[in-house]
Amino acid sequence: VFTALLGAAVASGLTALVLVLVEAANILLPAGTKFGIVIDAGSSHTSLFVYQWPADKENGTGVVSQALACQVEGPGISSYASNPAQAGESLQGCLEEALARIPEAQHRGTPMFLGATAGMRLLRQKNSSQAEDIFAAVTQVLAQSPVDFRGAELLDGQDEGAFAWVTVNYVLGLLIKFSFSGEWIRPPEGMLVGALDLGGASTQITFVPGGPIEDESALATFWLYGSSHHVYTHSYLCFGRDQVLTRLLTKLVQVRLAQSSSADLVRHPCYHSGYRTTLAPGPLYESPCVHSMAPQNLTQNLTVEGTGNPGACITAIQELFNFSSCQGQGDCTFDGVYQPPLRGQFYAFSNFFYTFHFLNLTSRQPLGTVNDTMWKFCKMPWKLVEASYPGQARWLPDYCASGLYILVLLLEGFGFSEETWPSIEFHKQAGGMDIGWTLGYMLNLTGMIPAEAPAQWRAESY
Ligand code: AMP
Repeated sequence: VFTALLGAAVASGLTALVLVLVEAANILLPAGTKFGIVIDAGSSHTSLFVYQWPADKENGTGVVSQALACQVEGPGISSYASNPAQAGESLQGCLEEALARIPEAQHRGTPMFLGATAGMRLLRQKNSSQAEDIFAAVTQVLAQSPVDFRGAELLDGQDEGAFAWVTVNYVLGLLIKFSFSGEWIRPPEGMLVGALDLGGASTQITFVPGGPIEDESALATFWLYGSSHHVYTHSYLCFGRDQVLTRLLTKLVQVRLAQSSSADLVRHPCYHSGYRTTLAPGPLYESPCVHSMAPQNLTQNLTVEGTGNPGACITAIQELFNFSSCQGQGDCTFDGVYQPPLRGQFYAFSNFFYTFHFLNLTSRQPLGTVNDTMWKFCKMPWKLVEASYPGQARWLPDYCASGLYILVLLLEGFGFSEETWPSIEFHKQAGGMDIGWTLGYMLNLTGMIPAEAPAQWRAESY
C-alpha cells in the first residue's frame, strides 16, 4: 500500500504528500489525521468507536470515517451494580485497542466521550446511588488514559434518537450537497432520512415531519450548515428488545397465576414448540419495567415451554401496548405518546436490523412476504430451528418473538402501513459507518458541523 501510494504521489507530482507510519497498528495515515473516541454504554453491551478525519477538512461534509469498532466483552455497564469497579475494568481491553490505533503523539489531542443509554436510565430509576457509583468507576478508568477524556454522561432518550438521526443523515450526505452547478445546496427536507432504533431497553423513532411538532418535549432543533432542522423524536423506555421479552414472560406468568396457584410451568406462544428453559424468578423481576409485576409467592424456578403459536404471540405482544390511551386522539401512537404523521424514508438499525438480517428480510421484501416468513419461522419446531442454524445459539430462541414484536411496534405502534412499509430500510451500516447515536454525538460535542452555511468553501474547493 505504501509503495502504491508513494508511487501515485510522485507520479502526480504531489511530492508534498506526507505519510506517517503508525508502527503499532502498521497502518499508513496521511499527516494531519485527527481522531475521536466515543463509547456507547448500552443496556446489553458496550461498544467503543474510533473516528478519524483529515484535520484540514474538519468542518467538511462526510469526511469522518470509522477507524475502529470494538465490542467490550461482557454485559452492559448497568449490570455491574454490585461491583462497579468491574464496569470500569471491562473497558480496558477496547481502550487499549483504541490507543494502539491512534499515533501516540496524538493521544493528548484526541477527545473521548462515554454516553450511557437506557440500561443506565433504568438503573438510575431503581437505585440512583448505584448508577452514580458505576459512572464514578468508568470515569476513573477513562480519566487515567492518555487521551483527552471529556466525561461520562447519561443520555436522555431524546438525545439518543436525535443524534442517531444526525449520524444517518451525515453519513448519507443528506445535510448539504455540492451541486453540479458548483454551489452548496440544501437537499429538500423530504429527502432526509428518519431513524428507527431498537436497543435492549428502549426504542427510538426520529424524523422530520411535514407539519408542525406540537409537543415541545418531542422537538429537537439543529442548526447544521446554515439550515435549521426541526426533528421529532421519542424514546420509549421498556420497549427495547430485552425488556419486551421480560415483560412478555412476566405477563404470561401473571396470567398463569390467575388461573392456578402455581406458575412453575409457563406455556409461551412466542417460543418454538419443543423449546424448554428454566429460569430463576428473582432476576426476572429486577428491572423497573416489570418490578410491579413481581408476585409475592413466587420462589421456585420457572419452566418455560414454547408452543410455537404466532397468532397467540402477537396477541400477547399487543397487550404490552396501551393503545386505548390514544383513543379519540389524533397524532398519538400508544401509551398516550404524541407523534405527527410519518414522512420520508427510514433507516432501521440495531435490533431492527439484527432480527431482519437473521430472517433474511433486509432486501426490501413486501410486508406480505415479511409476515409469511415470520409465521413460518415461528411455527418451526425447535429441534429443526437448532439444526438449521448451528453456532447461533445466543439469540436463536428469541428471533420469533423479536420479529413479531417489531411488526407490532412498526405497524400498530408507530403507524406504518402496507403502503408506507417500503419506506423502511434495514441497515447496520451506512457509508462504512455503524449507525447509532455515537457519531452524531461526537460531531455535535466537537462542533464539527458548523451552524453556518459553508459560503467560502466554494472558492476553496474549486
Ligand atoms: P444493541 O444494539 O447492542 O443495543 O442491541 C440491541 C438488542 O439486540 C439487545 O437486545 C441485544 O441483546 C440484541 N442483539 C445484539 N446483537 C444481536 C444479534 N447479532 N442478533 C440478535 N440480537 C442481537
